[in-house]
Formats: sequence, structure tokens, C-alpha cells
Amino acid sequence: MLSLKTKLSDIPRIGPKYAAALKKLNMETVEDFLLHFPFRYEDYSERVAIDNLAAGQTATVMGEVTKSKLIRTWKKKMLITECFVQDDTGTVRAVWFNQPYVSDSLTEGKGVRLSGKVSEDAKGLFFSNPAWELSSRIPTNTGRLVPIYPETEGLTSKWIRWQLQNLIKFADELQDPIPENILKGLHLPSLSEAIKYIHFPKNAKQAEIAQKRFAFQQMFLLQLASQRAKISWERQQSVTIPFDEKLMQKFVAALPFSLTNAQRKAAFQILKDLEKPRPMNRLLNGDVGSGKTVVAAMAALSVINSGYQVAIMAPTEVLARQHYLTLSALLKNRDINIALLTNSYKEINNFQFPISNFQTNPNFQNSKLKIQSKFKIRNSKLGDQISRDELISQIKFGAINLVIGTHALIQKGVKFKNLALVVIDEQHRFGVDQRAYLQQPASTRGNDRSSTRGGQISEINDGLPEKTPHLLSMSATPIPRTLAMAFFGNLDLSVLDEMPKNRKTIKTKIITAAERQKTYDFVRSEIKNGRQVFIIFPLVEESQKMSELKAATEEHARLSKNVFPDLKLALLHGRLKSNEKEKIMQDFNDKKYDILVSTSVVEVGIDIPNASIMIIEDADRFGLSQLHQFRGRVGRAEHQSYCFLFAKSSALSKSRLKAMEKYASGFDIAEEDFKLRGPGEFFGTRQSGLPDIAMQHVTNVKLIEIASDYAEETLKENPSLKKYPLLQKELEKFQKNVHLE
Ligand code: ADP
Ligand code: MG
Repeated sequence: MLSLKTKLSDIPRIGPKYAAALKKLNMETVEDFLLHFPFRYEDYSERVAIDNLAAGQTATVMGEVTKSKLIRTWKKKMLITECFVQDDTGTVRAVWFNQPYVSDSLTEGKGVRLSGKVSEDAKGLFFSNPAWELSSRIPTNTGRLVPIYPETEGLTSKWIRWQLQNLIKFADELQDPIPENILKGLHLPSLSEAIKYIHFPKNAKQAEIAQKRFAFQQMFLLQLASQRAKISWERQQSVTIPFDEKLMQKFVAALPFSLTNAQRKAAFQILKDLEKPRPMNRLLNGDVGSGKTVVAAMAALSVINSGYQVAIMAPTEVLARQHYLTLSALLKNRDINIALLTNSYKEINNFQFPISNFQTNPNFQNSKLKIQSKFKIRNSKLGDQISRDELISQIKFGAINLVIGTHALIQKGVKFKNLALVVIDEQHRFGVDQRAYLQQPASTRGNDRSSTRGGQISEINDGLPEKTPHLLSMSATPIPRTLAMAFFGNLDLSVLDEMPKNRKTIKTKIITAAERQKTYDFVRSEIKNGRQVFIIFPLVEESQKMSELKAATEEHARLSKNVFPDLKLALLHGRLKSNEKEKIMQDFNDKKYDILVSTSVVEVGIDIPNASIMIIEDADRFGLSQLHQFRGRVGRAEHQSYCFLFAKSSALSKSRLKAMEKYASGFDIAEEDFKLRGPGEFFGTRQSGLPDIAMQHVTNVKLIEIASDYAEETLKENPSLKKYPLLQKELEKFQKNVHLE
């Protein structure tokens, strides 16, 4: 007997070929199939008498086929089915291209329903490729609100609807994970009702209420997950770092600038978090150039001053090295040993490291590690290299206070003596697993690996077995408030929504082909004044990497030869090795080049204060938030800076780009981007793992608030959710697919 759990491969009218395709979409059972949702509807519910049809209208007509033929156009090798359908009021023509089987079904005398958009040509009104169905059939594809499914793996919406006609009855067997009283309170339909509504809505209202139910369900689960994560995070222990106000005041006073209020507030929140015996989990969200690094440096200093270690992770080697240099400067003359650990760089920067420190370190004396004679840590200076093994030993013995690196930091073999703070820059660029790894207590960190090497767990003792490091994530992608509420409910949020005062607003202008030369002239004059220029060919997709490279290479050649033959141009792209990139950036920083032509590799974090012009080619192809990231590469010093958006541009993209001219703040741009492209695009549905249907409601603040309240109430009443086994199961399933920050 068939049931919800029946394998799709066992359903006679599906068959093995389709079952395999469905499996690729993670649909294996009848239940999975029912939970495969449409992402929109085509409204074919308006029945119109043929005589009343008008061009441009979307309508359904019903009538009898009076003429039907298959035409082959020799020139274009196309097969056209042409049909005439008549009702009491008139006749209309319908054509289908390259669907010869239509003419097999729609023979003269057959009753048919057609749905689609009405077109008009010299011969009058007609339907082009309309949806059709024999009128004897239950309306499924025509004459109603018709669901449109994501069509992948050769599964058409029509086929899915046809299957669902047969399977929808199993919806009655579904058990609802959402407690009944919650649904009642919100006037939302039960699961089985909602499933029927979502696939076969009688009207728009049914479709809407079903969507709302599932959106609520997703939001509710999301809130449950994040609130539970927060509760369990708060149950972990961390070391407490006293807030040394004097130290911080001294540090701030020594800076060449005064902190913005936003920086002050964020630093205060962080330093207060560090005082608590439970680990901080805070996101520092601030526009490019809002000064997150200094805030992170204050946190690091505070922790190091209390005798613990700090790790800072950046997504790229170039960025890691930049942080290394910046932090070395910020924390100099303080007895702080700083190291850089990436695959290419193993450097140590020790400004004042008394050797006695080292010798009296009990860990060091007891260890089996022998001091190697070539060990040069004592008088190391910026840029001094160290072997990976040596560096790792020094981290393990606590001789290094601050390690900066890429994900190499969490690779095999890296152990800390007493890691108390982890800072992750550009956190969204790291994998979920990498982030999760750092958030475990030290005692469990590394267990997986050592156990495979045969019970060396006792050796993994980084001094703080039961403690979880405080975690500070940083992101330069401004997150609209509603999104932050929905997705980062488990994090505390500090926002740097104020730019340093010395910053001039970057003048942004859309440049059309006609103004290109004028712009180049301006570029030349700025360079004459000593400034430098970025020209970017941003990356669209991974698959376009090659063409992007080609475009950048050709443009570099063209500009060098024809436009700026007297200037020095460099070319930077992702195919270069890390040290080659580094060299070019360094040379650019040292003003050995006037113009840096680059692919999107400069998107993140690069700091060249002297650069004052950012030119973005094909700007109309990119999202606003991304453009804003590029723009943030200039305007990092006192010079008036400019961003020129080269665009071929249709009207729409121009209006989109106009937002760049209008708004300076990344938060404003993010809201605009969010409005224009929708949350799915903005946030990447794939990344969040949430179905489209829930993403569409992410902007619905009210729904998020309601979901959050219900989640809180539910967890308060029943923290383990044991009372709601179905909900608990659903939550587990949800957490497998959705990634919380
Ligand atoms: P981001 O938030 O993008 O990481 P950074 O921390 O790299 O920004 O800071 C950008 C630049 O601004 C750096 O050169 C930094 O020294 C400088 N900066 C930071 N805070 C201030 C401030 N309050 N006033 C002036 N300049 C500042
Ligand atoms: Mg930064």
C-alpha cells in the first residue's frame, strides 16, 4: 500500500528515470515530493469568452478544436502546431512551436482549455505556446492558479503537477510539527491543509495563507534554532578578562586619530562581554573603512594583557598580512609577540622579547622540545621568517601572544597554550565548519584529528580545557536590520554606522561611453597630483574567471598602449601566486605604479590610502553591495576620492546604479539592494539553506517578531522540546540544512 513513506521509485507512474532525477533534488519519498514547493503561480483563473479577448491579456478560454494542423517551416526547420478553438462567441488561433505532439492530442472536435497570454499579429489575436488541457480533465495546468516549480533536472512544472494530482491525497497523513495552539492563535492552516493549498490553491488567498504558514514555520524554526544555540552558547565557560580602563585610555590616546562614537561604543560592548565568564559571540558589522581593526586591536590588547592568547583569522593571505602589519604597528612597544601564519608566510614579529621570559616559561622547560641553535626569535623584526614547526611550537608554548593568519591557523597541528579570543574578519567568507571549529571548547578542539592518530588526546592541552574562546566576528557587508534580526538572532550585534570624521564622501558618477575619454583625462590629472587609481573588472561567477582574466589582461594592454602609454600600469588577477599578488600590491602601495588594473581580487580589505579613484568596468552587471565594497577601496585617507561606474546600461540598471550616486552609507545601499533584488539574491538562498518561500518573507519584520516571541515562549515552557517530539524532529532536520552564524 502506498503511503507518505513510499519511495518515489516505487510509484508506477514515476518510474526509475524520473526517480533518479528526483533523488538529485533530494526527493526520495512521497512526503519529500509533497514538500517540494512552487516558487510562484501563474494566474490562469480568468475565464474569458473568445469574443472578449484582448491583446496582452492573460486569460483562459474553453472551446472545441475546429481545425488543427502541423506545419513544417523549411527555412527554420521548425514544427508549428496550429489550432483553431471555437466557443459560443468566436474563434481564436493557437500556435505551439516544436511541440508536434500537441497536434496528436488536439484533433478536430476535441474540447480544450487554453491558458496564456494573448498576442496579436496581422492575422489577428492568437495564443502562443499556451498551456492546454482537454476540458474533460480536472483543471491542473489551465483555468486556475497554476503553481510554477523550480524546473531542474528535466522535471517540468507540468509533469510535477500531473504527479501531484495523484499524490496530494497523502497530505492528509502528514503530522504537523507546529503546536496546534500556535497555528490557531495565528489563524494559520494545518500542515496537510497548507500542502493542499500550496499545490492546488482554489484562489490567491489560499496560496497566500499557505505560503504564510510555511514562512512562519521556517522563521519559527530559525528562531528556535538560534535561541537554543544562544542558550547553549551561554552555558559554556570562558576566561574572564578584566576591563582595564587605564590601559585602554592609554591605547586610545596614543592613536593618531580619535575614535568615532560608534567605535567607542562597540569597543565598550566588546570589552564588557570579555569580562563575563561566558564566551562572547558578537558580530561587529561596519562599513568598509569604518575602522573595525582598531576595535579588534583593543579587544586583543585587553586579552593579551591578561596573559592569554588571541587569534585573528582573515579570508586571504594578503589580508592576513595586512592585518599583521597593521596590528604590529598598533601594538608595538608593548612586549607583545605577534606572528603571521598562512600557507605562504610564517613570520614572527617580536619587538621586545626578553630571552629570560622564554627560559623561565615552565611550559618550555618541561617540554621535550629542544631549543634549536638557529632559533632566532629574540631579536626578530618585522618580516623575519620562521619555520612552520618552530612557529607552531611557539604558539603552543604561549610565546606568541597574537597569531594572525588564514584558515591555516586551524589546520592540523596548530595548538594554543591559552587561546581566549578569536577574531574572524570577513566572517561570511569562512566555511561553516571552520567557524564551528573555533567555537568549541579547547578540550574538544582537535580531538577528531588526534584520535585518528591514536590516542594523543592527553597531549592536546592548550591550558584551557573547559573554556571556550570569546568570539568576535567582523563583517564589512552591512546587513539590513531585518535580515540581522532573522539570521543573527543568536549573536550580539555591534554596528559601526559612523565613518571617521576625516573621511570625505566619495564622489560617485555613472559614466557612459561618451564620457569615457573625459574621465581618462581626469584620471591623468589626479595621477599628476600624485594619486593612484584602481580599474576593476569584477568577477561575476566562478565559471567566468577566465573571461574576466582575459578582459583584465586585454584592458591592461589597451590602456598601457593607447590611453596611458606614459604611465605605469600593473595587472593583478587571481591566477597569480599569493606572493606575486603581494608584491604587486606592495609595489602599488610604494607608488611604483600609477594604475592598478585588477580583477575582483582587490574586493576585500586592501588598504592603499593614496589611491583616490576607483573605476569599475561593466558596473551595471553587479549588485549594489558588491559595488559598494569596491568603492570602499578608495577614500581611505584625506584625499577627495572618486568612484566611476562605467556602464553600458539599460534603464533599470542605471536606476540601480543611481543608488550608488545617491547613498554613501553601506547600510543605506544594503537596504536598497535588498529592496531591489529581494532577500534571496541579496543573501544567497543557497548560503542560508532556507527555501525561497521563507526568504520572501524575511523582510516581514512582524512575522519575524511573532516567530521570535513564540519561539521564546515555547522554549521557556519546554526547553528540551520533549513535549513536542514532532517539532523537535523538524528542528533537527532544519538545522541540518540551515546554517546559523
Ligand atoms: P575596516 O572597518 O574596513 O576594517 P579599517 O580598520 O581598515 O576599516 O580602517 C580603515 C582606515 O581608517 C585605517 O587606515 C585606520 O587606521 C583608519 N581609522 C580607523 N578609525 C579611525 C578614526 N576614528 N579616525 C580616523 N581614521 C581611522
Ligand atoms: Mg577590515
